[in-house]
Amino acid sequence: DELKTILSQWQTSGTSAIHVSNKKYDALALSAAILKNQLVNHYQPKVLLATGRMVGVETLVRWQHPEDGMVYPDQFIEVAESEGLIDDLTHWVLHEALQQTREWHLMGLPIKVAVNLSMNNLATPAFADLVSQAVASAGLKPSDIVLEITESQLKADMRVPLEILTRLRLKRFRLSIDDFGTGYSSLVQLRDIPFEELKIDKSFVHGSHANATLEAIFDGNMRMARQLEMDVVAEGVEDRDDWNFLRGRQCDLAQGYFIARPMPGHQIPDWEKSWNL
Ligand code: C2E
Ligand code: CA
Ligand code: CA
Ligand code: CA
Repeated sequence: DELKTILSQWQTSGTSAIHVSNKKYDALALSAAILKNQLVNHYQPKVLLATGRMVGVETLVRWQHPEDGMVYPDQFIEVAESEGLIDDLTHWVLHEALQQTREWHLMGLPIKVAVNLSMNNLATPAFADLVSQAVASAGLKPSDIVLEITESQLKADMRVPLEILTRLRLKRFRLSIDDFGTGYSSLVQLRDIPFEELKIDKSFVHGSHANATLEAIFDGNMRMARQLEMDVVAEGVEDRDDWNFLRGRQCDLAQGYFIARPMPGHQIPDWEKSWNL
Protein backbone atom coordinates (compact mmCIF):
# COMPACT_ATOMS: atom_id res chain seq x y z
CA ASP A 1 0.00 0.00 0.00
CA GLU A 2 2.80 2.32 0.89
CA LEU A 3 4.39 1.55 -2.45
CA LYS A 4 1.10 2.28 -4.20
CA THR A 5 0.87 5.66 -2.54
CA ILE A 6 4.41 6.56 -3.50
CA LEU A 7 3.81 5.38 -7.04
CA SER A 8 0.64 7.40 -7.48
CA GLN A 9 2.28 10.49 -6.00
CA TRP A 10 5.16 10.07 -8.34
CA GLN A 11 2.87 9.60 -11.32
CA THR A 12 0.84 12.66 -10.40
CA SER A 13 3.91 14.81 -10.07
CA GLY A 14 5.18 13.50 -13.41
CA THR A 15 1.93 14.34 -15.16
CA SER A 16 1.70 17.82 -13.73
CA ALA A 17 5.27 18.57 -14.74
CA ILE A 18 4.43 17.64 -18.33
CA HIS A 19 1.28 19.70 -18.09
CA VAL A 20 3.15 22.79 -16.98
CA SER A 21 5.61 22.54 -19.83
CA ASN A 22 2.80 21.96 -22.34
CA LYS A 23 1.18 25.14 -21.18
CA LYS A 24 4.35 27.08 -21.31
CA TYR A 25 5.44 26.04 -24.78
CA ASP A 26 2.38 25.84 -26.96
CA ALA A 27 2.06 25.10 -30.66
CA LEU A 28 2.15 28.74 -31.66
CA ALA A 29 5.40 29.46 -29.83
CA LEU A 30 7.02 26.31 -31.17
CA SER A 31 6.01 26.85 -34.79
CA ALA A 32 7.31 30.42 -34.57
CA ALA A 33 10.56 29.07 -33.12
CA ILE A 34 10.99 26.71 -36.08
CA LEU A 35 10.35 29.53 -38.57
CA LYS A 36 12.63 31.97 -36.74
CA ASN A 37 15.46 29.45 -36.61
CA GLN A 38 15.55 29.36 -32.83
CA LEU A 39 16.24 25.63 -32.87
CA VAL A 40 19.81 24.43 -32.73
CA ASN A 41 21.26 20.94 -33.07
CA HIS A 42 23.86 19.63 -30.70
CA TYR A 43 25.80 16.48 -31.50
CA GLN A 44 27.03 13.75 -29.16
CA PRO A 45 29.85 11.39 -30.23
CA LYS A 46 29.31 7.64 -30.54
CA VAL A 47 32.64 5.83 -30.15
CA LEU A 48 33.90 2.28 -30.68
CA LEU A 49 34.52 0.60 -27.33
CA ALA A 50 37.43 -1.38 -28.72
CA THR A 51 39.49 1.61 -29.87
CA GLY A 52 37.73 4.77 -28.70
CA ARG A 53 37.42 5.99 -32.28
CA MET A 54 34.43 8.21 -33.06
CA VAL A 55 32.32 6.62 -35.79
CA GLY A 56 29.31 8.87 -35.60
CA VAL A 57 27.27 11.39 -33.68
CA GLU A 58 23.68 11.62 -32.50
CA THR A 59 21.75 14.80 -33.29
CA LEU A 60 19.94 16.27 -30.27
CA VAL A 61 17.79 19.33 -30.86
CA ARG A 62 17.56 22.30 -28.48
CA TRP A 63 15.47 25.45 -28.48
CA GLN A 64 17.35 28.68 -27.88
CA HIS A 65 14.50 30.51 -26.28
CA PRO A 66 14.87 34.33 -26.28
CA GLU A 67 13.71 34.58 -22.64
CA ASP A 68 14.16 31.14 -21.11
CA GLY A 69 17.57 30.28 -22.54
CA MET A 70 18.33 26.73 -23.65
CA VAL A 71 15.19 24.57 -23.60
CA TYR A 72 15.68 20.79 -23.83
CA PRO A 73 13.66 18.49 -26.11
CA ASP A 74 11.79 16.75 -23.30
CA GLN A 75 9.94 20.06 -22.92
CA PHE A 76 8.79 20.48 -26.51
CA ILE A 77 8.90 17.23 -28.52
CA GLU A 78 5.57 16.07 -27.08
CA VAL A 79 3.99 19.40 -28.00
CA ALA A 80 5.35 19.04 -31.53
CA GLU A 81 3.90 15.52 -31.73
CA SER A 82 0.47 16.36 -30.40
CA GLU A 83 0.10 19.64 -32.30
CA GLY A 84 1.07 18.38 -35.74
CA LEU A 85 4.45 20.13 -35.84
CA ILE A 86 6.70 17.10 -35.65
CA ASP A 87 7.14 16.76 -39.43
CA ASP A 88 8.33 20.39 -39.63
CA LEU A 89 10.61 19.89 -36.65
CA THR A 90 12.10 16.65 -37.99
CA HIS A 91 12.74 18.23 -41.37
CA TRP A 92 14.45 21.20 -39.76
CA VAL A 93 16.64 18.92 -37.64
CA LEU A 94 17.43 16.62 -40.57
CA HIS A 95 18.39 19.41 -42.99
CA GLU A 96 20.62 21.06 -40.41
CA ALA A 97 22.26 17.73 -39.51
CA LEU A 98 22.87 16.91 -43.18
CA GLN A 99 24.54 20.27 -43.87
CA GLN A 100 26.74 19.81 -40.81
CA THR A 101 27.66 16.24 -41.72
CA ARG A 102 28.57 17.29 -45.25
CA GLU A 103 30.96 19.86 -43.74
CA TRP A 104 32.58 17.24 -41.50
CA HIS A 105 33.03 14.93 -44.48
CA LEU A 106 34.67 17.71 -46.50
CA MET A 107 37.01 18.31 -43.55
CA GLY A 108 38.08 14.66 -43.70
CA LEU A 109 35.87 13.40 -40.87
CA PRO A 110 33.68 10.76 -42.56
CA ILE A 111 31.32 10.13 -39.62
CA LYS A 112 27.75 8.90 -39.63
CA VAL A 113 24.97 11.07 -38.27
CA ALA A 114 22.01 9.79 -36.29
CA VAL A 115 18.69 11.65 -36.27
CA ASN A 116 15.82 10.90 -33.88
CA LEU A 117 12.50 10.18 -35.55
CA SER A 118 9.09 10.29 -33.96
CA MET A 119 6.65 7.49 -34.73
CA ASN A 120 4.35 10.28 -35.98
CA ASN A 121 6.84 10.88 -38.80
CA LEU A 122 6.16 7.36 -40.00
CA ALA A 123 2.55 8.02 -40.91
CA THR A 124 2.89 9.07 -44.55
CA PRO A 125 4.59 6.85 -47.14
CA ALA A 126 6.06 9.99 -48.79
CA PHE A 127 8.32 10.39 -45.76
CA ALA A 128 10.84 7.85 -47.07
CA ASP A 129 11.19 9.78 -50.35
CA LEU A 130 11.49 13.14 -48.59
CA VAL A 131 14.32 11.84 -46.44
CA SER A 132 16.22 10.27 -49.30
CA GLN A 133 15.85 13.40 -51.46
CA ALA A 134 17.21 15.54 -48.63
CA VAL A 135 20.17 13.19 -48.18
CA ALA A 136 20.96 13.10 -51.89
CA SER A 137 20.78 16.87 -52.29
CA ALA A 138 23.19 17.27 -49.35
CA GLY A 139 25.67 15.09 -51.24
CA LEU A 140 25.48 12.26 -48.71
CA LYS A 141 24.58 8.58 -48.91
CA PRO A 142 21.75 6.89 -46.99
CA SER A 143 24.34 4.64 -45.37
CA ASP A 144 25.79 7.78 -43.71
CA ILE A 145 22.50 8.29 -41.90
CA VAL A 146 21.20 6.45 -38.85
CA LEU A 147 17.52 6.85 -38.04
CA GLU A 148 16.73 6.29 -34.35
CA ILE A 149 13.22 5.21 -33.37
CA THR A 150 12.23 4.96 -29.73
CA GLU A 151 11.11 1.54 -28.62
CA SER A 152 8.28 2.79 -26.41
CA GLN A 153 6.66 4.35 -29.47
CA LEU A 154 6.27 1.07 -31.31
CA LYS A 155 2.54 0.61 -31.70
CA ALA A 156 0.09 -2.24 -31.87
CA ASP A 157 -0.70 -1.48 -35.49
CA MET A 158 2.67 -1.11 -37.10
CA ARG A 159 1.61 -1.69 -40.71
CA VAL A 160 2.20 1.79 -42.11
CA PRO A 161 5.31 2.57 -40.02
CA LEU A 162 6.68 -0.84 -40.93
CA GLU A 163 6.17 -0.17 -44.62
CA ILE A 164 8.02 3.14 -44.34
CA LEU A 165 10.85 1.64 -42.30
CA THR A 166 11.19 -1.14 -44.84
CA ARG A 167 11.37 1.39 -47.67
CA LEU A 168 14.05 3.32 -45.81
CA ARG A 169 15.98 0.12 -45.19
CA LEU A 170 15.78 -0.80 -48.88
CA LYS A 171 17.28 2.60 -49.65
CA ARG A 172 20.21 1.62 -47.37
CA PHE A 173 19.47 3.87 -44.40
CA ARG A 174 20.60 2.45 -41.06
CA LEU A 175 17.78 1.91 -38.57
CA SER A 176 18.35 2.01 -34.85
CA ILE A 177 16.01 1.09 -32.02
CA ASP A 178 16.35 3.60 -29.20
CA ASP A 179 15.84 3.35 -25.42
CA PHE A 180 15.74 -0.40 -25.69
CA GLY A 181 14.31 -2.14 -22.65
CA THR A 182 11.95 0.66 -21.67
CA GLY A 183 9.08 -0.23 -24.00
CA TYR A 184 7.18 -3.38 -24.70
CA SER A 185 8.13 -4.40 -28.19
CA SER A 186 7.95 -8.12 -28.60
CA LEU A 187 10.60 -10.17 -30.27
CA VAL A 188 8.15 -10.73 -33.10
CA GLN A 189 7.93 -7.01 -33.85
CA LEU A 190 11.68 -6.65 -33.68
CA ARG A 191 12.19 -9.52 -36.07
CA ASP A 192 9.78 -7.91 -38.54
CA ILE A 193 11.52 -4.56 -38.51
CA PRO A 194 14.88 -4.43 -40.21
CA PHE A 195 16.78 -2.66 -37.41
CA GLU A 196 20.55 -2.94 -37.50
CA GLU A 197 21.40 -1.18 -34.31
CA LEU A 198 20.04 -1.46 -30.80
CA LYS A 199 20.65 1.21 -28.18
CA ILE A 200 20.45 -0.09 -24.65
CA ASP A 201 18.74 2.53 -22.52
CA LYS A 202 20.87 4.48 -20.08
CA SER A 203 18.89 3.16 -17.12
CA PHE A 204 20.50 -0.27 -17.74
CA VAL A 205 23.97 1.09 -18.42
CA HIS A 206 25.12 3.55 -15.79
CA GLY A 207 25.94 1.68 -12.60
CA SER A 208 25.38 -1.82 -14.04
CA HIS A 209 28.83 -2.91 -12.90
CA ALA A 210 27.67 -2.56 -9.29
CA ASN A 211 24.07 -3.80 -9.54
CA ALA A 212 23.25 -7.45 -10.23
CA THR A 213 19.71 -6.70 -11.47
CA LEU A 214 20.83 -4.07 -13.96
CA GLU A 215 23.64 -6.35 -15.04
CA ALA A 216 21.22 -9.21 -15.73
CA ILE A 217 18.92 -6.95 -17.75
CA PHE A 218 21.87 -5.56 -19.65
CA ASP A 219 23.13 -9.06 -20.48
CA GLY A 220 19.66 -10.16 -21.59
CA ASN A 221 19.38 -7.21 -23.97
CA MET A 222 22.85 -7.88 -25.26
CA ARG A 223 22.07 -11.54 -25.98
CA MET A 224 18.90 -10.62 -27.82
CA ALA A 225 20.75 -8.08 -29.94
CA ARG A 226 23.39 -10.65 -30.82
CA GLN A 227 20.78 -13.22 -31.80
CA LEU A 228 19.17 -10.66 -34.07
CA GLU A 229 22.64 -9.71 -35.38
CA MET A 230 22.33 -6.07 -34.41
CA ASP A 231 25.12 -3.71 -33.40
CA VAL A 232 24.80 -2.61 -29.81
CA VAL A 233 25.21 0.94 -28.52
CA ALA A 234 25.24 1.59 -24.79
CA GLU A 235 23.97 5.06 -23.90
CA GLY A 236 24.46 6.88 -20.61
CA VAL A 237 28.11 5.90 -20.13
CA GLU A 238 28.89 8.29 -17.30
CA ASP A 239 32.15 7.08 -15.77
CA ARG A 240 35.15 4.84 -16.25
CA ASP A 241 33.50 1.96 -14.37
CA ASP A 242 30.64 1.99 -16.90
CA TRP A 243 33.17 2.07 -19.72
CA ASN A 244 35.18 -0.87 -18.36
CA PHE A 245 32.02 -2.89 -17.72
CA LEU A 246 30.98 -2.44 -21.36
CA ARG A 247 34.38 -3.37 -22.70
CA GLY A 248 34.12 -6.62 -20.79
CA ARG A 249 30.72 -7.22 -22.40
CA GLN A 250 31.81 -6.94 -26.06
CA CYS A 251 29.41 -4.08 -26.60
CA ASP A 252 30.14 -2.28 -29.89
CA LEU A 253 29.61 1.42 -29.31
CA ALA A 254 29.36 3.78 -26.37
CA GLN A 255 27.80 7.18 -25.88
CA GLY A 256 27.57 9.30 -22.74
CA TYR A 257 28.93 12.07 -20.57
CA PHE A 258 32.11 10.08 -19.79
CA ILE A 259 33.00 10.36 -23.48
CA ALA A 260 31.45 13.72 -24.36
CA ARG A 261 28.39 15.85 -23.71
CA PRO A 262 26.32 16.92 -26.69
CA MET A 263 28.02 19.97 -28.27
CA PRO A 264 27.59 22.42 -31.17
CA GLY A 265 28.63 20.86 -34.47
CA HIS A 266 31.64 23.09 -35.06
CA GLN A 267 33.28 21.74 -31.87
CA ILE A 268 33.24 18.12 -33.03
CA PRO A 269 36.52 18.15 -35.06
CA ASP A 270 38.54 19.66 -32.18
CA TRP A 271 36.93 17.28 -29.71
CA GLU A 272 37.90 14.37 -31.94
CA LYS A 273 41.53 15.50 -32.03
CA SER A 274 41.84 15.95 -28.28
CA TRP A 275 39.83 12.92 -27.10
CA ASN A 276 41.73 9.98 -25.78
CA LEU A 277 40.94 7.29 -23.27
P1 C2E B 1 17.48 10.08 -26.47
O1 C2E B 1 17.33 9.92 -27.93
O2 C2E B 1 17.44 8.85 -25.64
O3 C2E B 1 18.82 10.89 -26.28
C1 C2E B 1 19.70 10.71 -25.19
C2 C2E B 1 19.48 11.73 -24.12
O4 C2E B 1 20.34 11.43 -23.02
C3 C2E B 1 19.84 13.15 -24.54
O5 C2E B 1 19.01 14.06 -23.81
C4 C2E B 1 21.30 13.25 -24.07
O6 C2E B 1 21.74 14.59 -23.89
C5 C2E B 1 21.22 12.50 -22.77
N1 C2E B 1 22.52 11.92 -22.38
C6 C2E B 1 23.61 11.72 -23.15
N2 C2E B 1 24.60 11.13 -22.44
C7 C2E B 1 24.13 10.96 -21.19
C8 C2E B 1 24.68 10.40 -19.99
O7 C2E B 1 25.82 9.95 -19.93
N3 C2E B 1 23.88 10.39 -18.89
C9 C2E B 1 22.61 10.88 -18.91
N4 C2E B 1 21.90 10.82 -17.79
N5 C2E B 1 22.04 11.41 -20.04
C10 C2E B 1 22.80 11.43 -21.15
P2 C2E B 1 18.30 15.30 -24.53
O8 C2E B 1 19.22 15.92 -25.50
O9 C2E B 1 17.71 16.15 -23.45
O10 C2E B 1 17.15 14.59 -25.37
C11 C2E B 1 16.08 13.95 -24.73
C12 C2E B 1 15.24 13.17 -25.71
O11 C2E B 1 14.57 14.05 -26.61
C13 C2E B 1 16.03 12.24 -26.60
O12 C2E B 1 16.32 11.06 -25.89
C14 C2E B 1 15.07 12.02 -27.75
O13 C2E B 1 14.13 11.03 -27.44
C15 C2E B 1 14.37 13.36 -27.82
N6 C2E B 1 14.94 14.14 -28.94
C16 C2E B 1 16.07 14.87 -28.99
N7 C2E B 1 16.23 15.43 -30.20
C17 C2E B 1 15.17 15.03 -30.95
C18 C2E B 1 14.76 15.27 -32.31
O14 C2E B 1 15.42 15.95 -33.10
N8 C2E B 1 13.59 14.67 -32.71
C19 C2E B 1 12.85 13.88 -31.88
N9 C2E B 1 11.72 13.34 -32.36
N10 C2E B 1 13.22 13.64 -30.60
C20 C2E B 1 14.36 14.21 -30.15
CA1 CA C 1 18.14 8.80 -29.59
CA1 CA D 1 18.12 6.80 -26.04
CA1 CA E 1 15.23 8.82 -24.19
